[in-house]
Amino acid sequence: MKIYGDYHTHTYFSDGRRSVRENVEAAIKRGLNAVAISDHGFANPDRYSLTRKKASEQRLLIAEERSKHPEIAVFHAIEADILGLEGNIDMRPEDFENFDFVIAGFHRFATPRRPADFFTFYLPAYFSFAVKPSRDAIRRNTRAFTQMIKRYPVAIVAHLNDMVITDPKEVAKCAADYGTLLEINMKHIDIFGRALDGILATDVGLIANTDAHTPEKVGDFSPLAALIESAPELKGRIVNASENAINFRKYRY
Ligand SMILES: [Zn+2]
Ligand SMILES: [Zn+2]
Repeated sequence: MKIYGDYHTHTYFSDGRRSVRENVEAAIKRGLNAVAISDHGFANPDRYSLTRKKASEQRLLIAEERSKHPEIAVFHAIEADILGLEGNIDMRPEDFENFDFVIAGFHRFATPRRPADFFTFYLPAYFSFAVKPSRDAIRRNTRAFTQMIKRYPVAIVAHLNDMVITDPKEVAKCAADYGTLLEINMKHIDIFGRALDGILATDVGLIANTDAHTPEKVGDFSPLAALIESAPELKGRIVNASENAINFRKYRY
């Protein structure tokens, strides 16, 4: 199945290896018609994330690529961080205008604003591989993600159920209501596979992304084939499996 755009890639502005230019050129080489540069958000250590200053430098580089390469749509996105049980993320209201769309997910190196969030949200996530979360914990995490979707114009929820375990059906239902897409992340495709039944029981839109940290991985959707084989009904649900432009949720509070 052909995927036409890769809407989640990293550069050296966060923890990716290479430049905006190299990701764009890699996407063109893959025959994509769209690519997004989506480096990590503001709550991560500065060395591995965007700062507001770095984001404005990056914006200029992206504008340059756009004028050089009219054959591909180049988006400036950000991968923001969910920071706690209230669903808050590391974006100020005015930050949203500076990006074409916002991806959000859980990242263990982000720093929560309140110490309580560390104990109630981060710590259990670190150990979720070993300690099965209780039903109450899953309920709380699910609410964190639905609150995030309700409070912020998040266009894509990245790698749902990576470390923070939710009820994927509830999150998907909420995402469908608000026009937020759920990601099929090529680096975490097994996690998506486990959440598949719940997600497919809703109307939520899905988007396949590589989460590439090197140009070689940009547009490499090879892990998707096995998933599609096991669940062919996914095909009609993946928005970037069509050439049509995607209507990303944005700006509205
Ligand atoms: Zn991520
Ligand atoms: Zn990422």
